[in-house]
Amino acid sequence: MATKPPLEPLAISCTATDCDNDLHCFLQKKRRDDGMRVGGPCRDCGADLVQWDRITTRNRSDAEYKFRAMKQELIRHEFWHRKLDQRAVNYAHRKGRQLLKEAAKARIVSSVGGAKHPREGRQTPFEGNILYYAQHAVAACCRKCIEYWHGIESGRALTEPEQDYLADLLMLYVKERLPNLANQPIKVPPIRNNP
Ligand SMILES: [Zn+2]
Ligand SMILES: [Zn+2]
Repeated sequence: MATKPPLEPLAISCTATDCDNDLHCFLQKKRRDDGMRVGGPCRDCGADLVQWDRITTRNRSDAEYKFRAMKQELIRHEFWHRKLDQRAVNYAHRKGRQLLKEAAKARIVSSVGGAKHPREGRQTPFEGNILYYAQHAVAACCRKCIEYWHGIESGRALTEPEQDYLADLLMLYVKERLPNLANQPIKVPPIRNNP
């Protein structure tokens, strides 16, 4: 009998939960009357842990609360805490904070900025760039996550202020994960794939 392969750790799904360990998923199963899929109590255990009105105002000065709430969701928690791979760390140092900020905006525009990405839902890889980790951590990875965590409906292009807001969240993530990142680029030797 064929045995099921072990779950690939990178292939964690957006709607996964581990409620016994207080890691939930707040995406609601049903759409609201206006067609949006919003956040609410955990879809599996019903735990009602997040003040959604407070979350979806997109108030930058309240980002700390938003991040605390996000860390109670399994998929976000994973990307706030997962060890960054070496390529992702090197990439950040080679850019430095200033250029990384520009890259964050460009990444938001190219991956989630349009009305619909051709690979919607799968447009953000799981490793190789700290901005990918950031996107999963702050729910800027696909339009479904942006819809319920940031209150921005899918199916239309993001406005410039929305792009800037999400790019700012990516940089707050970078600040938390790499607090010593320099402003300017630094030289980092390439990773050698020795046998
Ligand atoms: Zn739960
Ligand atoms: Zn997503």
